[in-house]
Amino acid sequence: MRGMLAEVSDAIVSVFFPAGCRICDGLLAGASRVPLCEGCLSSFERLPGILCEICGRPLQILARKEGEPLLCPACKEKTYAFERARSFAVYEGALVRAILLLKFEQIEPLGAWFAERLAELANAEPDALAADVVVPVPLHRQRERERGYNQAALLSKPLAKKLRLPHKSVLLMRTRARPDKQVLSLEERWESVRGAFATRPGSQVDNLRVLLVDDVLTTGATLDACSRALRDAGAKSVVALTVARAMRNPLPSSVAW
Ligand SMILES: [Zn+2]
Ligand SMILES: [Zn+2]
Repeated sequence: MRGMLAEVSDAIVSVFFPAGCRICDGLLAGASRVPLCEGCLSSFERLPGILCEICGRPLQILARKEGEPLLCPACKEKTYAFERARSFAVYEGALVRAILLLKFEQIEPLGAWFAERLAELANAEPDALAADVVVPVPLHRQRERERGYNQAALLSKPLAKKLRLPHKSVLLMRTRARPDKQVLSLEERWESVRGAFATRPGSQVDNLRVLLVDDVLTTGATLDACSRALRDAGAKSVVALTVARAMRNPLPSSVAW
């Protein structure tokens, strides 16, 4: 009897006092469906200082020549096929955990919360980030079947809604899977995505300005490969938004820092 009572009271507690923050176990704000507490959500660190105008990488700049564009070494060498990339916050601390939750537990309210942050970035640079369609970076078909969803689409779908743009989840496909190896070197990262994406036959890309969405930008190789596929299919321009940006290993190895 006591056991049963305990079980019932546990059930009642879990209805009225849902589990705590999925990162720190702290108290959750009542009305939100996002399973992270205010403390964790506000701990995400925005990108510091001055950013490269193209790829959004933080720059260490002491002096700037008048009229000279602010570009990182990679963008000076025209490394990327996208026009612009921006990220919400630095890929570290609680944000790493939050991205894992999005990736492996399909927490849609968290995707929607991040989408709001990405919409703020898009609205902060309305001309530079203007687009006609929103497209998630695709997973390989087999990977998506195993996981049951594409985590990038958990971001791009609510983002498209906020920006009042059409969402095209099948415009782009990944034709070659990522190697199974857990950690890839810089060269392997670039090699593994080169030519790994294509637009779906029959999809209309001509003259479209595409906004690509992904969870993390590491080297920019994936966004670059997607952009090349879209440009080859006739896209007018490609811009990209990611939730997080890895600050270590930021540059492709062919470019000296
Ligand atoms: Zn927390
Ligand atoms: Zn750059």
